[in-house]
Amino acid sequence: MKKLFAVLGDPIGHSMSPLMHNDLFSFYKMDAHYHPLQVKAESLEDAVRGLKAIGIAGFNVTVPHKSTIIPLLDGIDELAGEIGAVNTVVNENGKLIGYNTDGPGFLAGVKDYIPSLTGKKVLIIGAGGAARAIYFTLVKNGPQRVDVSNRTVEKALKLVNECTKSISSNALSLDQAGKRLEEYDIIVQTTMIGMYPIINEQPLSLSNLNENAVVYDIIYNPLETEFLLKAKQKGAKIKNGIDMFVYQGALAFEKWTGVSPDVGRMRQNVLKQLGGTRC
Ligand code: NAP
Repeated sequence: MKKLFAVLGDPIGHSMSPLMHNDLFSFYKMDAHYHPLQVKAESLEDAVRGLKAIGIAGFNVTVPHKSTIIPLLDGIDELAGEIGAVNTVVNENGKLIGYNTDGPGFLAGVKDYIPSLTGKKVLIIGAGGAARAIYFTLVKNGPQRVDVSNRTVEKALKLVNECTKSISSNALSLDQAGKRLEEYDIIVQTTMIGMYPIINEQPLSLSNLNENAVVYDIIYNPLETEFLLKAKQKGAKIKNGIDMFVYQGALAFEKWTGVSPDVGRMRQNVLKQLGGTRC
């Protein structure tokens, strides 16, 4: 019987996950289908119960359900618990178990370009769901320091205080981070500032950027945000959010099927849809 997979969110029409996963199912000749499901917040509990009843094989969870789904599942893994968010659910013998592949997806993309994080000084801009996923993943992978800068500094402080690893982490305002920017080897922009349709904005000034830094923006629409454009003009290496998106999907696919998919194929597929080239 055909296996059913889905992504739950609201809105959901923009999601490129169905395109990416259905292409993989057909490429690997798997009898499966991945469907976008628009689920309102007030219907999430009913939706999860219904999906479990019909024996869904697995699903992704996106905005605004990544945290609120947790009490509706049968269990979550340790990283998802630390992050406080689930983006991938696997039906394991009738039990719905939640995982978070956003942080590991970001890390997998980084490792293509920076083989070791040992000794690196990292700045994360933002303290929302994506920042939490990236923070809790990075602190386990050897950097010397991971600072968090956010418009609402209290949220950055709460995040670094939740960390149980012995790593140096400071919570900074956007202004403070801008002044100290030259200290960082890696900068990760995780706010929605610069995302389509308001594309001419950036969260902080890059005037103090170290030209040897690698600058990430996890936005992928547009493929080159104002933040990345300014970083490129300063001579830094830049990376957009495509790799994080593709690898989070690849890790979810592997959890569902046991197959480690062709990430290059997934990337080309997504880029074709976005009408751009990789950066
Ligand atoms: P979220 O939980 O709502 O967090 C939003 C963050 O943006 C918070 O830190 C918030 O600061 C900050 N922010 C919002 N408006 C701001 C403004 N006007 N000025 C300064 N800071 C502002 O959202 P999220 O789920 O983390 O997603 C954030 C972005 O990441 C989105 O663009 C999303 O598309 C992208 N994303 C990409 C991937 C990928 O695979 N590439 C995966 C997940 C998310 P406050 O705390 O002060 O409100």
